Amino acid sequence: MLEISKRFHDLFGRGPEVIAAAPGRVNLIGEHIDYSDGFVLPFAISDTTVVAIAKRSDNLIRIASVQKRTDIMEMQLGELAPYQGESWARYALGVLWVLGVDTGVEVLINGRVPLGAGLSSSAALECAVATAVNHLFEMGKSLPELARATQKAENDYVGVPCGIMDQSVSLMAHPGSALLLDCRDLTSEHIPFLIAPQGLELLIIDTQAHHKLVDGGYAERRASCEKAVAELGITSLRNISVAEYAARQSELDPVTYIRGFHAVTEMKRVLDAVEALKSNNFTRLGELLNQSHRSLRDDYTVSCPELNLAVDTALAQGALGARMVGGGFGGSAIALIRTDHVKRCQGAITKAFAEANFKAPRFFTSLPSAGAHVIPN
Ligand code: ADP
Ligand code: MG
Repeated sequence: MLEISKRFHDLFGRGPEVIAAAPGRVNLIGEHIDYSDGFVLPFAISDTTVVAIAKRSDNLIRIASVQKRTDIMEMQLGELAPYQGESWARYALGVLWVLGVDTGVEVLINGRVPLGAGLSSSAALECAVATAVNHLFEMGKSLPELARATQKAENDYVGVPCGIMDQSVSLMAHPGSALLLDCRDLTSEHIPFLIAPQGLELLIIDTQAHHKLVDGGYAERRASCEKAVAELGITSLRNISVAEYAARQSELDPVTYIRGFHAVTEMKRVLDAVEALKSNNFTRLGELLNQSHRSLRDDYTVSCPELNLAVDTALAQGALGARMVGGGFGGSAIALIRTDHVKRCQGAITKAFAEANFKAPRFFTSLPSAGAHVIPN
């Protein structure tokens, strides 16, 4: 019997009807542009969040997480409503709310995606719940529909104004590929991302830093991009070339300009990275990662000392490229590095963090893995 089935049985006194898993993600390149209709190039990591679910004959929702000591949270279906407190359960409740679940359910969650490390444990949780609910209630929703639903759950129920990337890749990823996702219409293309045969690895460095700016900083950057769009009279930052944007600099205040500049240059870097991957040019990919980091650090100003130290140390250890990933102000960085340099690089980063009096970092490596799926029970 699967571990989650056993735990479900211990907790709820019967087995689950459906089990589903959804992965966390790392965005190779294309940061802070999903909400500007841009392109992003994430891949799914091998760590997943697993959800087991069964219907009830009444309207009670009972929900628990192994990571939250399996205390059972209870709520009546009719009480589902946005912005209720800070409970972790709202990530799952939001999905039930958006999908319009109309009978009570029992839900058990077991997540292996590290929480709050910038690897999107929130999307993994939402997408695992959505996949399980879609299957259990035979809703027949497509992957793009589930991506929009889970994004809506996080935006409108949890209250986090995230873009669509995390949920899309958690749902749609293929093993051995990164997902080129056009955030304007959610069309996607699987781009082979086979680094192992090249003797390369993607090292994920969780800085364990979480700076207070996270929430306000994100909303503010997003507002700057919207302001640039409004003042330039365009429909989105997607619809302007780097050259044209630069030529219209005088129409924007300096902060708005430089934030939008990150967005338009990052969109170009994503397409360049796809070309680099298609021609197996990992040196070029590394350069683009470095440019992305500098843009996030200097133009978008969402990096922090811990992320910069991780990136600089990885480069000093011979990484082909490195950058912060995720929203910024903490969380993780990635480094594209030769497999035989990984250990040395980890040691150097750990040492540099200790010398700087930063919290000890955590390390993960992952090959590009599969998206959400139902697990035979
Ligand atoms: P990230 O998505 O980068 O990991 P977030 O702050 O967006 O960080 O989401 C983390 C939150 O998602 C956790 O604080 C918790 O509320 C919820 N969460 C994610 N995974 C689980 C889990 N396995 N069990 C309970 N809550 C979870
Ligand atoms: Mg998240």
